[in-house]
Amino acid sequence: MKPETPIAIMWHRRDLRLHDNAALYYALKAGRPVLPLFIFDKDILDHLNDKRDRRVEFIYEEVLAMQQALHKQGSTLLVRYGRPLDVFKELASEYTLANVFTNYDYETYAKGRDAEVATYLKSVNAGFHSYKDQTLFDRDEVLTGSGKPYTVFGPYSRNWLSKLDDPFYLKSYPTEKYADRFLKTAPTPMVTLEQMGFEPLNEKFPKSTVSDKLLTTYDKTRDFPAQRGTSELSIHLRFGTISIRELARQAQANNLTYLKELCWRDFYFQVLDHFPHVEHESFRREYDQVPWLNRPEDIERWKAGQTGYPLVDAGMRQLNEIGWMHNRVRMVTASFCVKHLLIDWRIGEAYFAEKLRDYDLSANNGGWQWAAGSGTDAAPYFRVFNPTEQARKFDPKGEYIRRWVPEYNNPAGASVTYPAPIVDHAFARQRAITTYKTALNAE
Ligand code: FAD
Repeated sequence: MKPETPIAIMWHRRDLRLHDNAALYYALKAGRPVLPLFIFDKDILDHLNDKRDRRVEFIYEEVLAMQQALHKQGSTLLVRYGRPLDVFKELASEYTLANVFTNYDYETYAKGRDAEVATYLKSVNAGFHSYKDQTLFDRDEVLTGSGKPYTVFGPYSRNWLSKLDDPFYLKSYPTEKYADRFLKTAPTPMVTLEQMGFEPLNEKFPKSTVSDKLLTTYDKTRDFPAQRGTSELSIHLRFGTISIRELARQAQANNLTYLKELCWRDFYFQVLDHFPHVEHESFRREYDQVPWLNRPEDIERWKAGQTGYPLVDAGMRQLNEIGWMHNRVRMVTASFCVKHLLIDWRIGEAYFAEKLRDYDLSANNGGWQWAAGSGTDAAPYFRVFNPTEQARKFDPKGEYIRRWVPEYNNPAGASVTYPAPIVDHAFARQRAITTYKTALNAE
């Protein structure tokens, strides 16, 4: 017999925290007992080829910590493994569901999933309510004067920054005020990684805080990959273990450059939300006429960090080893993949998606389409990064390169020698420009 008291479900997805959480706040405030839920989505997990996946491990640890925190409060976080619709069908037979609260997700798959769940919930007389939480501004909160979405970052960021003068947008949602409204229930079990077919890596993840010290030096250090001069918060922003409002308040008080980086994040979310075709096609559709070479050997050498361009190789090896790459090097490796090797940006994008611990469809797609020249605010097609110059400028002592490519500069005859460049820079640059120009019919 299921209990008759109607309850609300708080469905956590990319918001793995109990504090300053919009949907959780509204769920608790509404007054019914709230049962938090996390679903390990089988549809997503089945698509991960590598069963030692840092993201799954990170989520697992965070979900476990939330569950333990709720156990201490006499409640629980229900953890299920399955297809979300099936899970909600099960839950409707176990509980009397009044409504489900969740935070809005910008990706096409998630929008479809949520629509399916909302339709089902309606059929059992339960409501589905979704809130803005991942971003500072929603898709239609920052629009041009004529009410259209921005496709250029500069004016978007000016409007975005001026809106932030209103402290309303940075206010926290004080969930702790209603902490007594979690459903009182016995602890529930946690599915294991092994039960879902995954193995732990026992990875050590970066901290979820940024120091004011880093924020004061950020402008000077952020472009130099040998220094730990960026916040490395991306995994926390990706899975919502940090609140964007708290972080933005700290940035607003200390560092405008850093705040602008958070603006890029919002920018790409709204691009994906307004122009979902970017997930599979170029934002500027004419760029899909570029005749990519996609040579299998080039693709493999690029992935493995064996191109003979040390900065590119260092970046790819950093990605392969720790699942993170410095932003400057992401730009260089992506540009090299697309322009020097004429590999379709979707191939590079998919590889980053597989490896990045902070993989986020909107930012990754935005970064790749920027590098390919096909995106909203993209580098022009004739701008081709020179990877050797980039190394000279941003890794002048070669420290970053030596960290990830120890055999670089080994004398001839050493046991591991570094490969010769996969392609000549001047040749590749000209080839890219000519190929793009012809495909785009450009002047
Ligand atoms: P910091 O410099 O400390 O910046 C703070 C935060 O601002 C980041 O954590 C991130 O949330 C946000 N941010 C910074 N730059 C950008 C940007 N250009 N676009 C969107 N958000 C930004 N970022 C991801 O979070 N996930 C991705 O999958 C991703 N793929 C990328 C692919 C390419 C080809 C490129 C060029 C960039 C990509 N980025 C991606 C953006 C950026 O490289 C990372 O956010 C950043 O390197 C993360 O490190 P950090 O937290 O130390 O960044």
